[in-house]
Amino acid sequence: MRYNKFLTILFFLLINFNLYSQSSDSIDLKYYQQIVDNIIKYGLERGKAYEMLQGLTSIGPRLSGSTQCAQAIAWVKEQMISLGFDNVYTQSVMVPRWERGTVEEAHILDGGEKLSICALGGSIATPEEGITGDIIEVHSVDELHVLKNQVKGKIVFWNKLMDKSKFNQGSAYGEAAFQRTQGAIEAARFGGIASISRSLTIAEDDIPHTGVMYYNDSIPKIPAAAISTKSADYLSKKLKENSHLKVNIKLSCRILPDTVSANVIGELRGIEKPNEIIIVGGHIDSWDKGTGAHDDASGCIHAIEALRIIKELNLKPKRTLRAVMFVNEENGLRGGKQYAENILAKEKHILALESDAGGFTPRGFGVTADSATLEKIKKLERFLKPIDVDRITQGGGGVDISPLGKLGVPTAGLRVDGHKYFDYHHSDNDTIDKVHPRELELGAIAIAIFVYLIAEFGL
Ligand SMILES: [Zn+2]
Repeated sequence: MRYNKFLTILFFLLINFNLYSQSSDSIDLKYYQQIVDNIIKYGLERGKAYEMLQGLTSIGPRLSGSTQCAQAIAWVKEQMISLGFDNVYTQSVMVPRWERGTVEEAHILDGGEKLSICALGGSIATPEEGITGDIIEVHSVDELHVLKNQVKGKIVFWNKLMDKSKFNQGSAYGEAAFQRTQGAIEAARFGGIASISRSLTIAEDDIPHTGVMYYNDSIPKIPAAAISTKSADYLSKKLKENSHLKVNIKLSCRILPDTVSANVIGELRGIEKPNEIIIVGGHIDSWDKGTGAHDDASGCIHAIEALRIIKELNLKPKRTLRAVMFVNEENGLRGGKQYAENILAKEKHILALESDAGGFTPRGFGVTADSATLEKIKKLERFLKPIDVDRITQGGGGVDISPLGKLGVPTAGLRVDGHKYFDYHHSDNDTIDKVHPRELELGAIAIAIFVYLIAEFGL
């Protein structure tokens, strides 16, 4: 009996010792764990991400400088005001303008099939009767350089496949993207008359994917377009049967003068250190195919919904959370550059986060920061574990926040399950029916937890 009493007392003392030896961190831990639980419950039960995505995508595609892009900017501003965000305003940005036009055709001459084609963003048009020429198929810039004496007067056909064997399709995209971005420059360097490239996707379908392409002012400008993966396979097969087949391409796109557009900004002002800012960003512009539902209406909605949840739960972050919808990510990065120029000298940004990988199931966060900062951020993993978004790794950010990264601001990107992203990317396929409401909401919930806790703990 006495022995048992002794054990009981010892046990009691140990428990208390353990409690008292816990730092105030542990008490905070419980407090913040409860807040995280509330964010998850509220988001899953009463989330508005998908409803807002419907609102934004119903405006249509949002190419920089277009009427719909201006409408989307107004819609987002209105949304932020009606949700009660602080300091909602637009920041003027001059953006390039380009229009697709109505004619996009390509066919193999002498009874050959039509090719499924779309102009690349920034391309010049063909003459009205089109451009007709022999085709030379290549798979790399090096190969083109070897064949340079055969390029003159021909249409260069870039047919580099995205590497399926890569788990990370973003890096496969990066390796194959030269044919779209540099194809016209390299083809024209040796006298090519047009450039057509295989769409940047592993999906085997008949949907061409657009995207930005570049010219070099010291090299003649030639029209540039993408063809679907099926058309690329077909053309390649036909070329093996007849190396002299000719293709006619007609494009009526045009480049217009730069015009005024804007970034949209709204905040939840910090109550203790309002001058320490955490950016939660997405890009408001999209390509003019589909409605840019994943790229990047989802990222914009992630940012707005994350702040909405925090506000609706009456959480008052210590530091300022600032949602920034950047304009012109797709064909110029003017919004990201303008933001960095306007703001950084005056304000202290402790972190910039962007969601621009689609509205798919979130997996974690990639962070580009020094190792001490990364270690601090990794402490959030335990809070993200309940929704399986707890992998925080070195390396991540977003195109729009890259100018801030260059100025030394730590950057982060929401990582998602990206296996379907390039099925839709920059094409007619990127529409809201490809976005799952619960997956989209979970992205917003993950961001809400991540940025709210950084606003509390600082970096
Ligand atoms: Zn994007």
